[in-house]
Amino acid sequence: MLDLLPVPTAIISLSDGTVRFEAVNLSFRAAGFSAPQGRDALLDGLADQITGFLRSVDCRRRMALRIGDAVDSRHYDVTLARRPESVQTPRCVMSLVDQTPEQRTETSLRREMSTDSLTGLPNRTGFADLVEDVIVAVDRARYAVLVVNLDRFSRVNACMGSLSGDELLISVARRLKGVLRSRDVLARTGGDEFAVLLGLREGTEDALQVAGRLQQALVQPFQLSDFSIRVECSIGIALGEDADDEAEDMIRHAQFAVKRSKRTGQTEVYRPHLFDIVRSQFSIETRLRHALEVGQLRLAFQPICDLSNGRINSFEALARWRTPEGEQISPTAFIPVAEESGLIVPLGRWAMDEAARTLAEWDRQRGRDSGARMAVNLSAVQLQRDNVETMFADVLVRHGLCGDRFTIELTESAFVVDPDRTLQTMLALKDLGASIAMDDFGTGYSNLAYLQKLPIDKLKIDRSFITGMLADRDKVAIVRAILSLAQALGMRTTAEGIETQELEHTLVALGCAFGQGYFYSRPVDAAAAYQLLLDRNA
Ligand code: C2E
Ligand code: CA
Ligand code: CA
Repeated sequence: MLDLLPVPTAIISLSDGTVRFEAVNLSFRAAGFSAPQGRDALLDGLADQITGFLRSVDCRRRMALRIGDAVDSRHYDVTLARRPESVQTPRCVMSLVDQTPEQRTETSLRREMSTDSLTGLPNRTGFADLVEDVIVAVDRARYAVLVVNLDRFSRVNACMGSLSGDELLISVARRLKGVLRSRDVLARTGGDEFAVLLGLREGTEDALQVAGRLQQALVQPFQLSDFSIRVECSIGIALGEDADDEAEDMIRHAQFAVKRSKRTGQTEVYRPHLFDIVRSQFSIETRLRHALEVGQLRLAFQPICDLSNGRINSFEALARWRTPEGEQISPTAFIPVAEESGLIVPLGRWAMDEAARTLAEWDRQRGRDSGARMAVNLSAVQLQRDNVETMFADVLVRHGLCGDRFTIELTESAFVVDPDRTLQTMLALKDLGASIAMDDFGTGYSNLAYLQKLPIDKLKIDRSFITGMLADRDKVAIVRAILSLAQALGMRTTAEGIETQELEHTLVALGCAFGQGYFYSRPVDAAAAYQLLLDRNA
């Protein structure tokens, strides 16, 4: 009976306080757990937990087992299930599911994704994690994030080639590190941008002093192989006040401050009222509300192609806003405002309805199912505030469409804000037939643990990893890691931002399934999109 089970399985009993194996299956032997060494490794890790379980009244317990050292280890998901026959000799069935490939991919991806390969420092993702740790760990957190941006660095690269640029960045990193205390963290958060995380003892003064030391560290010219060169930097500071801070906000605020510092020529500390974003946001909000009411918004459609045969798999629906004065306002400007003001709810409802209306219209023109599918973006804010499943179900009925014609694109932020609710909504959307895609993958929180637990069908690799990928080994490494993660989790992948044939070839070679980008088509209006569909999928 046991031998029919595909994973290592044993029946275990507890008699006289000793754990005994009563029967084991073939895979258990094959995995080496019957040999003395394997048995010892297993019991070293689990004997206490097995004993605890068998003495308890629980019916089932799951635990993790790691065998081996940090360099070469195997990971198992262990389940104990009680067999009720005998009270005197408690027994259970133990099964071990090997999680090693997933763990390895996750560990290497995590390392890959959080380290800058040039300097070995944490990168933006790694830095955000470290800031998050500080926010969580410290009760009344007093800390600062400093963003150090090198001035006119792109010129250095342009004049001397990127090899010297790399050399210079390494020296800059070394000098910056040299003036920090050992408990401060230095990271490279962008091409020419470093960031520092400081614990504050004396308050703001402390942060300003460190900023001064960092600038001082760069005063001496750098001696490269053939040149001597001076590097200056601008510094922006964001101060952490309390445990409600968000790491991403802290970094963004420091980046706001550094932009201001470039203008004023002095180190700037972020203070919300100094930054007049609020005012411009208010005017966009008023105008957007009006635009929604009078119907100034349109959808543009961009094909997502199957890389194996070039056919259009689906279209992504993207919101477009053209004011009566002819001004085109980018979604990157109005979507955040819509999210903050709550206008995203009517906007998102409109987008879903309009995408479905277009799809139904194409079917009518074609006289049958046009074969097109639609990918619609859904903001995390909408997931929280709106009843998305009812909305989607209504749209399907209104336009007489099946749910399987839709992919819903969500970003990682949806899972950070309210994971339980998001999961419920995803399951409901899937019940209605829709697929789920994780948008902008790699840019956000990259908490990989949740990926496994969610019903995600597709990962969309963010454009920032694809653009310039051919000349950047970090990006290739990340894309490769994301692709193997997706494969391990049984998800399909779309690369965003493919602009050239060369990029397409590389992504095909790396095993990516779908592609989207200007190389295939820019986002176009409904009529042009329908024509593309007829031409490409003839
Ligand atoms: P996204 O979902 O990542 O959409 C892809 C963006 O990349 C689009 O920008 C598209 O025009 C652009 N893009 C596509 N291929 C290429 C390429 O080869 N090169 C370059 N440089 N760019 C390319 P767009 O339309 O400006 O949209 C920006 C973002 O606004 C979207 O990013 C999405 O997050 C948001 N958005 C747009 N429409 C909606 C909507 O209806 N609802 C919600 N919630 N968000 C939307
Ligand atoms: Ca998208
Ligand atoms: Ca995207």
